[in-house]
Amino acid sequence: MAGGAQQDDEEITGINVTPLVDITLVLLIIFMVTANFIVRETVEVDLPRAANGGETVQGLVNVVIDKDGKLYLDGAELAEDALSRRVSEAVAKDKDTRAIISADQSLPYGRVMHLIDVVKGQGIAKFALNIQKDAAPTAAPGAGSADRPALVLDAGTGLRALTGLLGGAAYDGSIVLSHLHWDHMQGLPFFAAGDRPASRVDLYVPAQDGRSGRDLLAQSFAPPAFPITPEGLHGTWGFHGLDEGRHSIEGFAVTAVEIEHKGGRTFGLRVEDERGSLAYLPDHAPAAGMSDALASMLDGVDVLVHDAQFLEGERPVAVDYGHATVQDAVRLGESAGASTVVLFHHSPARTDAALDDIAAWAPDLAPDRCVVLAREGMTLDVVRRPNS
Ligand SMILES: [Zn+2]
Ligand SMILES: [Zn+2]
Repeated sequence: MAGGAQQDDEEITGINVTPLVDITLVLLIIFMVTANFIVRETVEVDLPRAANGGETVQGLVNVVIDKDGKLYLDGAELAEDALSRRVSEAVAKDKDTRAIISADQSLPYGRVMHLIDVVKGQGIAKFALNIQKDAAPTAAPGAGSADRPALVLDAGTGLRALTGLLGGAAYDGSIVLSHLHWDHMQGLPFFAAGDRPASRVDLYVPAQDGRSGRDLLAQSFAPPAFPITPEGLHGTWGFHGLDEGRHSIEGFAVTAVEIEHKGGRTFGLRVEDERGSLAYLPDHAPAAGMSDALASMLDGVDVLVHDAQFLEGERPVAVDYGHATVQDAVRLGESAGASTVVLFHHSPARTDAALDDIAAWAPDLAPDRCVVLAREGMTLDVVRRPNS
């Protein structure tokens, strides 16, 4: 299909802006690695009710706290001390064990935080949190779909980790690529959860050169670069050229605006629903100028995830590569009014120690905002600010 995304041209109108007091958690974002993250619509998570417990999946514990405060592990009710013990045993078996904590939205904040402390206290390094209506014991993801991210932004190598997160389930959702540079799509050929008979994946790429989404992808996803063409993928795949403008994708309003970068068309993306908004500009050279469309797309966004590949001292290289500096990213976040700026797309040459150093001084660039470095496995809650 050339041009693009006809079914997504629908304008989103009549968004119900809920007062902040009703908002506990909006979007859950998991940073997998550079150039890949997931936006999870937490209240639309489909939790099949397991009548008599779920399966245990190696490396994953599935904790639920329902509206009565009852605790469940992998579908079976248990007391808090037993939960601690079981989680601790899982970590002893596999130190990389992850947790999915699903909590009923009516529970007090403190109760949920306590549960997180209990789970993390057993050595769980990574966890995802779902706040939802009527949280109930569930089957583990391998047996059902307790954890089902529906919208993925970019497809870097971190996309492989999504297969593990889904615990064996086929992916059912969309992937929106900001652009077609290798570092933003190299995870696609290795995305097992998207390559199953039951998979449904809608892939969106920036429309360009009058070519279809399929043909744009096939430039690097076909022999001799890769053994199969897009048609060789199992499941139901849709390849769409995405135009600028506002689209409805997986229940989110997704706004795409062309931005300055180098080589091929690159989009900045804003993802939002009535409870919060996030702008994602992983590769962007703000120093090359900013369109009115981009300024309006960024205006008032809650969280800005932005290219921060370089430092001011590396400005000539940043200009040459069409990327941003840490300072550019923070400045843009301030002018947009974002409450949180996530520094993303770190230079591959940067060591962990160098990144820790940036993490130490970057928050001082904008003391009235939250400035953080994106890290693999990071989870962020996107919550609409008061008065926005
Ligand atoms: Zn790029
Ligand atoms: Zn990139």
